[in-house]
Amino acid sequence: MSNITVCARFRPLSSKERSNHGDSVCIHGIDNESFIFKDDKEENFKFGFDRVFYEKSEQAEVFEFLALPIIRDAFNGMNGTVITYGQTGAGKTFSMEGPSILACDEQKKGLLQRTVDELFDCMKSSDASVKFTIKLSMVEIYMEKVRDLFDLSRDNIQIKESRVQGILLSGVTEICVFNSAEALQSLASGISNRAVGETQMNMASSRSHCIYIFTVQQELTKEKRVKAGKLLLVDLAGSEKAEKTGAEGKVLEEAKTINKSLSALGNVINALTCGSPGKAFHIPYRDSKLTRILQDALGGNSRTALLCCCSPSTSNSAESLSTLRFGTRAKHIKASPHAHCSEESNAKKHGVYEATKDESMERILNKLRERLDVENVNLLEELFIMEGIILDPNSVEDLDLAFEDVTLQTITSLQHMVEDLVCAVEELKSENKALKTRIAAGGKIDAFHKEAGENGYASIVHKISDRLSHLVSWIWPFSSATH
Ligand code: ADP
Ligand code: MG
Repeated sequence: MSNITVCARFRPLSSKERSNHGDSVCIHGIDNESFIFKDDKEENFKFGFDRVFYEKSEQAEVFEFLALPIIRDAFNGMNGTVITYGQTGAGKTFSMEGPSILACDEQKKGLLQRTVDELFDCMKSSDASVKFTIKLSMVEIYMEKVRDLFDLSRDNIQIKESRVQGILLSGVTEICVFNSAEALQSLASGISNRAVGETQMNMASSRSHCIYIFTVQQELTKEKRVKAGKLLLVDLAGSEKAEKTGAEGKVLEEAKTINKSLSALGNVINALTCGSPGKAFHIPYRDSKLTRILQDALGGNSRTALLCCCSPSTSNSAESLSTLRFGTRAKHIKASPHAHCSEESNAKKHGVYEATKDESMERILNKLRERLDVENVNLLEELFIMEGIILDPNSVEDLDLAFEDVTLQTITSLQHMVEDLVCAVEELKSENKALKTRIAAGGKIDAFHKEAGENGYASIVHKISDRLSHLVSWIWPFSSATH
């Protein structure tokens, strides 16, 4: 179990803060990992984080500390999440995108541009036998609806859970990107779709959560394995209180929804940090779209880093204090990441294991029904299903997704093997043609057999039978697991 990484970042004072409130700041006694925070009642609080970044800190430092280790792990099939949190204007989007995703000098590049560069650098320096696929999706959560930023017609994406891949956004557009420039262009188009939404629906980006999803898939052809790591970068909506903004009508409704999802995030963090160790505890992931999407990142299968963005101005001290307290609570979450890979033999083991687990679960529930009130047993069952401890027998959807995962992997492998077979047959044909030419040129029939046996046919027939046995060994675990 490892804790999530939590950092704080104070941006420089803005010109408005300087002109209205002068140069007074609410942080003192600063070092790399701690500082003293003075609130508006002149009370001092000491805060400590994994790292604290101040106004002179560079974007590169933030990236290297917060995101780089997580990206490297994503290459080993581990999921990772980087979240920026804080009030509007605190520096979340600047940390994520820099001043602009495309037109931005090297020094000011944000986490996104650096993540893209690192992904392609890692890919280039990897073993040439590994086949990489990097896919990108972008969604926005606005008024509890998940919108696909690569296809605005998909404005209510459903969140599903697969046993193999964890939390999934059903039907979301995934763009395959082949180099940094392409990835940045796609990111820019997604971001501009966010802006289109703003003018059409009077939506300000600070009132929606934006999630960037990179999927790194590696086919390790030598080891016959597929490894996939998912990387989520999350630029949250402003965390300020609705009443402070003087919002009314629709804007107030928006603010309440944001506060609801951010307070759901706070509740999930509370539940994760207050539960007694070793005891099953209800974590309210389903209370908002945001917490459901971040379920793997919060206490699940993901390495997670949180950047708490703050203004250093005394005029914003109440909001900064609440952001810093949020970060302190999040620091106590224990996550349990594990690498995500599928092996041939695992597929078989998985199938067998689940069957016995489901059987024993049924046996235990029946015994409980004999001893306890049926209503209590049903409640326990409901709770276990919600927590994912047992599988909902009626949830065909989850089973379908798990089955789809395995089927997709099988189809990809079958395609590769068919390609290999076609190559082998082509080789055989040209070999045959060459031999026929030699026979026609006066060679004897026994010489033909001798040559074919020693070199041509034998090796090619061997190749084909090799491919076929490979194919059978691939299909066998899946067919036995599904029967
Ligand atoms: P948020 O996304 O949290 O609402 P922004 O990232 O848009 O806030 O930042 C608000 C303003 O502050 C922007 O003009 C941005 O350029 C500036 N800013 C934020 N962080 C920094 C920083 N570390 N250095 C320089 N300017 C910053
Ligand atoms: Mg922003």
